[in-house]
Amino acid sequence: MPATVFTIANQKGGVGKTTTAINLAAALAERKIATLVVDLDPQGNATSGLGVEREEGRSIYGPLLGEGSALDRVVPTRVKNLFVLPAEVDLAAAEIELARNPDYLLQLRKTLEPVVNSERFRAIIIDCPPALGLLSMNSLAAARWLLVALQCEYLALEGLGQILKVVERLHDAGVNPDLEVGGIVMTMYDIRTNLSRQVVDEVRSHLPEKIFDTVVPRTVRLSEAPSFGQTIFEYDPTSPGASAYRQLSKEVIKRFGLSS
Ligand code: ADP
Ligand code: MG
Repeated sequence: MPATVFTIANQKGGVGKTTTAINLAAALAERKIATLVVDLDPQGNATSGLGVEREEGRSIYGPLLGEGSALDRVVPTRVKNLFVLPAEVDLAAAEIELARNPDYLLQLRKTLEPVVNSERFRAIIIDCPPALGLLSMNSLAAARWLLVALQCEYLALEGLGQILKVVERLHDAGVNPDLEVGGIVMTMYDIRTNLSRQVVDEVRSHLPEKIFDTVVPRTVRLSEAPSFGQTIFEYDPTSPGASAYRQLSKEVIKRFGLSS
């Protein structure tokens, strides 16, 4: 069975994309679902957050531009069933080089095809840079499902509208007719403020079938874990952040019919 491909894309940085990619992937892995994180952000936060060293010439960059196989670049993490296709700084240049290719939106899809069909992974989660540039567009062209990480703050819906428009445009252009918004993850929920609750209520009233029931709380433990190269399940497995991502993984498994 081919892997189910998710992308976590959004035009904004600092909204919890990488935190969600890492910890959702780790929670799926904990439930024996072989999961691959594809780090498409030149900053490589997902790579380092999973405790993997960024090395020149070992990332998805080469394969993306037609050099070598992506499957060969996959590395295991310390976590069982959890793998990463690392990023490197040079990925930033890929945006420019991709643009030279007539099929510039479909390069990642082609690159990942053997990985998707390798039977090694059940789920693939692509972590995107904080902009809707060519790398993010490539991820949207390669994925079946878009997961949106949305911070509980003012104008959350506005940001959501922008990414939904991009999905529509990719549909209309025939780039990826299969792509759909799979779900919206509300992140950095602050129980002490009314604002967080209002934002969640608002998103829920607009997109009741898309928003996940699980809301990720703002907790310092989630922000500390990556500096130790650890997932929240290694760093503090009984913390509220760990519970939230476990809960989210159950919803994801159910919604998308994943099984080990
Ligand atoms: P993005 O990938 O969208 O840029 P990150 O996942 O890197 O966002 O999160 C941005 C910052 O906020 C990071 O320092 C991260 O550790 C922190 N962060 C993310 N989610 C939470 C959370 N639920 N609670 C507290 N801090 C968080
Ligand atoms: Mg990030």
